[in-house]
Amino acid sequence: MIVILEPNLTPASAEYQSVRQYLQSLPNITLREHQEHGAQQVLTEFYLIGDTAALSKETLENLPGVDRVVRISKEYRILGRHRDDHRPTAFEYNGVTFSQDTLTIFAGLCAVDNPTHVEQMLRALRDHGQVCTRMGAYKPRTNPYSFQGHGKSCLPYVFELAGKYAIKVIAMEVTHENHVLEIQQALQLTGNPTGVLLQIGTRNTQNFELLKAVGRQRQFPVLIKRGFGITLEESLNAAEYLASEGNARVIFGLRGMKTNLADPHRNFVDFAHVPVVKRLTRMPVCIDPSHSVGSRHSGPDHILEILQVTAQGVIAGANMILVDFHPHPNLALVDGPQALTLDELGYFIQDVQIARRAYEQRVALATAKRLI
Ligand code: PEP
Ligand code: MN
Repeated sequence: MIVILEPNLTPASAEYQSVRQYLQSLPNITLREHQEHGAQQVLTEFYLIGDTAALSKETLENLPGVDRVVRISKEYRILGRHRDDHRPTAFEYNGVTFSQDTLTIFAGLCAVDNPTHVEQMLRALRDHGQVCTRMGAYKPRTNPYSFQGHGKSCLPYVFELAGKYAIKVIAMEVTHENHVLEIQQALQLTGNPTGVLLQIGTRNTQNFELLKAVGRQRQFPVLIKRGFGITLEESLNAAEYLASEGNARVIFGLRGMKTNLADPHRNFVDFAHVPVVKRLTRMPVCIDPSHSVGSRHSGPDHILEILQVTAQGVIAGANMILVDFHPHPNLALVDGPQALTLDELGYFIQDVQIARRAYEQRVALATAKRLI
């Protein structure tokens, strides 16, 4: 059960204290407090864990200072979408809003290789009106002898160049909690010219100690990818780990499932789960067409399969697209074969816009049909 206080009630206020005291006095209930800092207001939520079946929703709702009470199912307590649950799905970070209603493109390098390529990428994004990108500095690789990413040494120039081209948010994978510290330090050193969306990669979806560490920090929002070989439920529980530690600014990423049945794609595209994740949780949903398809093949209609699956995700309501580009894919140190070129950026954006318009028309049609 969640008891949500009226906005902006501070811990110093009498109502806050008396609600907390009352909840603490309930038998067989453990209390967890969570504060949601929005752009305009601070929301306090008390999570009641334990024997809540006998509690009366009305009694709790009548306590002075309580705005409303939500009865939740066991799963995904914080990030889940529960019955009568009208908590917002949106959060803002560094001037960019993420929600289940928005769509944001994160096109960029799979891995940072050198300042020239970073700058070419960022300039192209700026020229196409984009304010977000992806840039990997820490790369988890299957082969220990493959390029592992430049790590913290590249962060200062990546952040400075991002600032130069007015990029607001960089999606960047971390594989160890020290990486979060290195990112914090590099941002501080360069005067916070940009923001970072911490990415948990598919190989770390169930690295619970990493999830707890990333969940404890509140500075950066988090993109968590679905684990490539586990159930959707297990991956959503992994996302809930982040929230249970205090960080509920979480985006859930679909990137395909590892199975031979995906051949000739790199992973089996799972974007049919976009609406499922939106139904079960309040997280914005990201799709990664590059790591799903893994190649630049196109059909007889000349449409690249990467663009085909992007459109499939967007027409189903995806909220974020993480997609690999490179100025010279043949020179890329990681995942060159799936990279789109800078010449294709404008075309990619246009194609996404077509699919987004189709999604919006479908929502309008479904809404109209419900009213009849
Ligand atoms: C990536 O986005 O760079 C990446 C490694 O993705 P995944 O964790 O989905 O393999
Ligand atoms: Mn990659």
